[in-house]
Amino acid sequence: MTTTHCPYCALQCAMRLEPGPGGALAARPADFPTNRGGLCRKGWTSAEVLTVPDRLTTPLLRENRGADLEPVDWDTALDHVADRLRGLRESFGADSVSVFGSGGLTNEKSYLLGKFARVALGTSRIDYNGRFCMSSAAAAGNRAFGLDRGMPFPVTDLDEAEVIVLAGANPAETMPPLMGHLSAARLIVVDPRRSATAAEALRRGGMHLAPRPGTDLALALGLLHAARLEGLLDADYITERTNGFAQAWRHAAAWWPERAEHVTGVPATDIRAAARALATATGAYVLTGRGVEQHAKGTDTTSAWINLALALGLPGRPGSGYGCITGQGNGQGGREHGQKADQLPGYRRIDDPAAREHVAAVWGVDPATIPGPGPSAFELLDSLGRGDGPRAMLLFGSNPVVSAPDARRVRERMAALDLLVVADFVLSESAAMADVVLPVAQWAEESGTMTNLEGRVLRRRKAAEPPAGVRTDLEVLNGLAVRLGQPPARFPTEPDDALAELRAASAGGAADYSGVTPERLASGEALYWPAPAGGPATPRMFLDAFAHPDGRARFAAVEHRAAAEDTDPEFPLVATTGRLMGHYQSGAQTRRVTELADAEPDAYVEVHPDTAACCGLAEGDWAQVTSRRGATAARVRLRSDARLDTVFLPFHYAGEQAANNLTNPALDPTSRMPEFKVSAVRLRPHATR
Ligand code: SF4
Repeated sequence: MTTTHCPYCALQCAMRLEPGPGGALAARPADFPTNRGGLCRKGWTSAEVLTVPDRLTTPLLRENRGADLEPVDWDTALDHVADRLRGLRESFGADSVSVFGSGGLTNEKSYLLGKFARVALGTSRIDYNGRFCMSSAAAAGNRAFGLDRGMPFPVTDLDEAEVIVLAGANPAETMPPLMGHLSAARLIVVDPRRSATAAEALRRGGMHLAPRPGTDLALALGLLHAARLEGLLDADYITERTNGFAQAWRHAAAWWPERAEHVTGVPATDIRAAARALATATGAYVLTGRGVEQHAKGTDTTSAWINLALALGLPGRPGSGYGCITGQGNGQGGREHGQKADQLPGYRRIDDPAAREHVAAVWGVDPATIPGPGPSAFELLDSLGRGDGPRAMLLFGSNPVVSAPDARRVRERMAALDLLVVADFVLSESAAMADVVLPVAQWAEESGTMTNLEGRVLRRRKAAEPPAGVRTDLEVLNGLAVRLGQPPARFPTEPDDALAELRAASAGGAADYSGVTPERLASGEALYWPAPAGGPATPRMFLDAFAHPDGRARFAAVEHRAAAEDTDPEFPLVATTGRLMGHYQSGAQTRRVTELADAEPDAYVEVHPDTAACCGLAEGDWAQVTSRRGATAARVRLRSDARLDTVFLPFHYAGEQAANNLTNPALDPTSRMPEFKVSAVRLRPHATR
């Protein structure tokens, strides 16, 4: 029996993996502060992923486009990849090769992937799928607090809250054990949909504020305005701990509740009531999720919610605060160790000379050889095979042809590559397009560390041997790096050796892991970063000062603006996308788990009965949903509490059923987050189903 953590979301529930009926491993809940002995259905069924029938156990190689993927041995596969990478670099320069990572990779893998790109390949072309999840919250957190630790306090602090605003978050569906920490609070849920969390809030006497999609920023401005009108702002806190309120207020001053109602559709009386409830609670939190973050103005929208929290004096005080509910399993750690286009380990900026010096010394390279910042995830994907864009991509832990916006365009760009290499455990939709597929171990077949949504570093323990023929991601990176002329010791294959190097690289950085040792982890110490060597960890941040040089938080002067595209007679409805309890991300894992696949076998579109009737559709029909970018097929699911003007689609399905065939890659100017949450669409009966 091995105690470890779930392979999926950022709550990282603790679980025991033990022999179940028939001898295969089974997951059972384990006690841990975040999940308190609970698991959602994804966690309960997670061990099945280890034994899926289509598990890859040998590398696959496609000799040329049009040929099939054929099994080859590891040396053949790695030699082929290294030869092609070397050739492309010699002919077209280092930036002709690129790397795409994941917020699901362990800290050690995230760290070595960034190092591999900068040192072994010398390319600036590296980014990761976390750009599509948490980047707006990260940018807004850095802007406000000088540092982004999504939830700068332990989840258990929420147990004592009196009021919690959940803006664009649906934990009752996506992270059910988290709801156990919200049970004492009055919930104010902000979501265009009557989500499971919104319904729960109403059942318990809370509120559901349902803004028109894309107007969350205006709603936050309206709440700030309402709180000030009623004299509920914390003037002392604003004076003593913040800067920039006057500039921020210049925008909020124009958002009196009736104007906010006009734009958002949320009644002014509800805006006033919500502002009053939040401002007068003795313990209050504002938590944001993807619903407010995945917009072309996601950073400003998140900033508007942070502004509200700051104006009420919540962040950096015991018993209250602001936090982002990070989504991917290592969404927090994945953005700290250097697989982002603009960052080096320790959450350092890649364009900071001191950061480059520090990291170069750990890597044993000349700082001048570390490339500068590269393009963000969608810009990188969109540049593949074009002009001077990359001609090769190495993909680890990600399935962008399902999870990236405008999926058809992404598929076209990936098909234009000279070389696509995918490391995965099954032939995902992206792997099926590859020239080389490298079969790699899964979470329970290797050890490593993850950083959960609270910023706590956790040990994932090995519970099973990988199947014969499978290697770990670290072994793959080492094998390629050595073939590209790197010393073997520069790319360790043992996770604890990689962690030791990560500790040195992060030391002194914003996300300081220098005290995250195997011994401290084994002792059960709660290692919330910053966790400096020889010093205590940091469960709660900002109690004395924020991370800006002057110790003060900063309001952001933000203004509402329209979504990147609007509806019109041809595309009269808005589509939003989101997650289901039974599936995770692109579904490459969960669509292979029998119970989960049987529960939700097909994509669906949630639509109001009147809207469906106007489109000639009834419950269970196959609909074709079409945007300006593409179309998807989905079964109609009628919801009388849905908005008449908005449909919802889960994004876990692939191919013809991929919701991301519809989504808009308009990018946030700061975070480069695409606008997943607002696409103009039309709905028709499906012609061929
Ligand atoms: Fe917990 Fe998330 Fe895993 Fe569900 S998916 S068991 S909420 S970590």
